[in-house]
Amino acid sequence: MQELLERLLEKNRPLTQKGKLAKYIPELARQDPSTLAVSVVTVDGETVTAGECPQKFTIQSISKVITLILALMDHDEEDVFDKVGMEPAGDPYNSIYKLEMMTPAKPLNPMINAGALVVSSMIVGGSVSERLERILDLVRRMADNPEIGIDSSTFRSELTTAYRNRSLAYFLKEYDVIGDVEETLELYVKHCAIALNCLDLARVGLCLAQYGKNIRGEQVIPRDLARLVKTFMVTCGMYNASGEFAIRVGIPAKSGVSGGILASVPETMGIGVYGPALDDKGNSIAGIRLLEDLAKEKNLSIF
Ligand code: GLN
Repeated sequence: MQELLERLLEKNRPLTQKGKLAKYIPELARQDPSTLAVSVVTVDGETVTAGECPQKFTIQSISKVITLILALMDHDEEDVFDKVGMEPAGDPYNSIYKLEMMTPAKPLNPMINAGALVVSSMIVGGSVSERLERILDLVRRMADNPEIGIDSSTFRSELTTAYRNRSLAYFLKEYDVIGDVEETLELYVKHCAIALNCLDLARVGLCLAQYGKNIRGEQVIPRDLARLVKTFMVTCGMYNASGEFAIRVGIPAKSGVSGGILASVPETMGIGVYGPALDDKGNSIAGIRLLEDLAKEKNLSIF
């Protein structure tokens, strides 16, 4: 596996030159576009990494998986899916226009920004910091790493430039589907700024692969929720590239605009990838190809 990961990493690294860093969050534009890293943690306890694996990055949209789990632990499934749908959007992750098509506004799914804002607003807690602490606690337990925290420069950098997310939040507020706009936005941008490395991501993926049991065998989330979020990852996890990704790779996965990808092969392994150069849909350009090659070589497609 070590030799395989290194070979696939070097094969795909040149692709990083064809991608672009996310620039609308100024701090993300400071990442090194040539970075590429991958980690695999198997259910048999094998851990393999290649590339710049120790490098930390912010989780961005991958946090939508974590907040959805927590919201579903806090509320009945019906209450959550009353406010946010279960259908792929087929639009960019920050798109606003389909929100207008339903009254009251109901985002199509929890993996697009509008849906994730609704989900964040449902996380229970007395203050933004208490609610954030609960999200952090969950991700730390899934990754079995108590050190995971927030990157405050990325948080500040995004909050001051969150024009699109702020407009999505105000639109949702008009129909009262979220609580206080600025609080919701602060919590959302903070959980997007959770910083970790690709080994942590692989361990989160392992936890989902083991139906909620982390690397130490601790049942961190209910079994059925692990199934539910992996299904969302298949249908909506790679934004409007989810269909092609399912065909070419066939692994439940969730990407973030920092270039991270969380992937989970049920009952087999968790995979974490980091490659900040993105394709035009906002997914790691080399990361996707690396996963495609790995899935083919190891026959990992779930289909
Ligand atoms: N924080 C980012 C945003 O809201 C997350 C988006 C992403 O990773 N695709 O724009």
